[in-house]
Amino acid sequence: MKADQIRESLVTALSRRRFLRGEFSAEPGVLRPPWALPESAFVGRCTRCDACVAACPTAILIAGSGGFPVVDFARGECTFCGDCARACAPGALDMAQPQPWQLAVRIDAGCLAAANIVCRSCGDSCQSAAIRFRPQVGMAAQPQVDPAACNGCGACVRACPQAAVALIARSEATIAA
Ligand code: SF4
Ligand code: SF4
Ligand code: SF4
Repeated sequence: MKADQIRESLVTALSRRRFLRGEFSAEPGVLRPPWALPESAFVGRCTRCDACVAACPTAILIAGSGGFPVVDFARGECTFCGDCARACAPGALDMAQPQPWQLAVRIDAGCLAAANIVCRSCGDSCQSAAIRFRPQVGMAAQPQVDPAACNGCGACVRACPQAAVALIARSEATIAA
């Protein structure tokens, strides 16, 4: 067995073991595709068929740990087209849910504005106008995200030249606050 096959087997076994133990939370930083069922139901139902990965027109879905699909906003944004969910025959992605996901934007210390360098790339990329820049005396204007206006599309992630923008689960944002 090749090294990558051994690693894949170990990761799959670990994912299944966590499932059987009732450890249903996705690893921190792991974002499932939109309309994913809660982690316990998702892991139990997803067959890792990659149909959602193949269906995504913006190619933001990739096979993650154990072969379960995850979102990588460094590759692009979600248009909420629903192609992934419609491709999911087992129903691990279910558009009957009220919202595609609950994500929050986190802007890290690497932000150029925090270093007093004028940059509005994230705000310019946001079609929802959810990132505003508050003027500061003697400082570059600082980005502020309006959670009520943000739909979690992820367009601001790739727009940042410093890779200082990330989307995280709203539950993780609450814990970090
Ligand atoms: S809703 Fe569309 S753009 Fe978003 S992840 Fe699914 S297939 Fe991709
Ligand atoms: S299409 Fe559904 S079952 Fe297949 S990998 Fe995606 S989420 Fe899992
Ligand atoms: S995730 Fe989308 S809607 Fe939210 S701030 Fe970023 S670009 Fe705007």
